[in-house]
Amino acid sequence: APGERAEGMETPIQVVLRVRPMNQAELRRGEQSVLHCSGPRTLRVSPLGGGRDIAFHFSVVMDGARTQDEVFQGSGIQRLVELALRGFSCTAFTFGQTGSGKTYTLTGPSPQVRDLLSQGPHHHLPVRWNKTRGFYVEKLKAVKFGTFEKVMELLLEGLRRRRSSAHSLNEVSSRSHALFTIHIQCPVGSPSRPKEQTFGKLCFVDLAGSEKVAATCSRGELMLEASNINRSLLALGHCISLLLEPQQKKNHIPYRDSKLTQLLADSLGGSGITLMVACVSPSAQSLPETLNTLRYASRAQ
Ligand code: ADP
Ligand code: MG
Repeated sequence: APGERAEGMETPIQVVLRVRPMNQAELRRGEQSVLHCSGPRTLRVSPLGGGRDIAFHFSVVMDGARTQDEVFQGSGIQRLVELALRGFSCTAFTFGQTGSGKTYTLTGPSPQVRDLLSQGPHHHLPVRWNKTRGFYVEKLKAVKFGTFEKVMELLLEGLRRRRSSAHSLNEVSSRSHALFTIHIQCPVGSPSRPKEQTFGKLCFVDLAGSEKVAATCSRGELMLEASNINRSLLALGHCISLLLEPQQKKNHIPYRDSKLTQLLADSLGGSGITLMVACVSPSAQSLPETLNTLRYASRAQ
């Protein structure tokens, strides 16, 4: 029902945390994990060299031993799918620094193809608004599909085309936000209303790395793009914090501040629900960015 939240979803956004396992390079360097799950909802950060533990609480905390299946079931992503089938607008997005496991969380362990050669011209598609559709991307390619395999094929094709470029922070860093939306039309007819349908939406968003622009030594065009990305992550954080305010202050949510927030508007503020999966690396070297991610994610709930 438009304007009504799904039951059990009184807050606009659910925040879960996923800690990725140590990677080979970190293990080779003999790094120690500075993150520990103590209980299903609590993460403890133990800064090396003494210092007091800092605890963060989320609706679910998953450590590096959790499989994709466990994350799918335990994080609430599965529930988003069920709600989208009933006509709600649902979004799952991953947030975190480059290399923290955002893309892995959304697409799983299949090899990721990173084809930097076939970048092609990149098109700017305008975001528009109208009464029936809300915010939408004009001239966006929409494809009808019948099978799950077809959806995955489309998703991987989209990821291949995603613009990535090497810069000094990481070998390949995703500097763009990727949105993958599935529109779900479901017949729910009854003898008295045989043609009734629900129109649900399921959107998966792989956000650009949240690391600070300054840390990447970006220059020129790269710098411009990086600051745009940061601006939309700031806009997202701002919209979320206003949505969490008491009712009387919710009158104006500045979705128009970024394309990202425009496209997430109906999941964030309308009838939909949004799941944020904050992704972090366990290594001590990543700790400053991990703390930024944990603070951003904590503020969102
Ligand atoms: P991001 O999209 O945040 O930049 P990726 O998803 O590309 O990060 O993850 C960085 C690397 O870590 C990849 O090689 C990925 O396969 C690996 N990785 C991330 N999360 C996991 C995980 N839960 N289990 C195993 N490997 C992972
Ligand atoms: Mg990625």
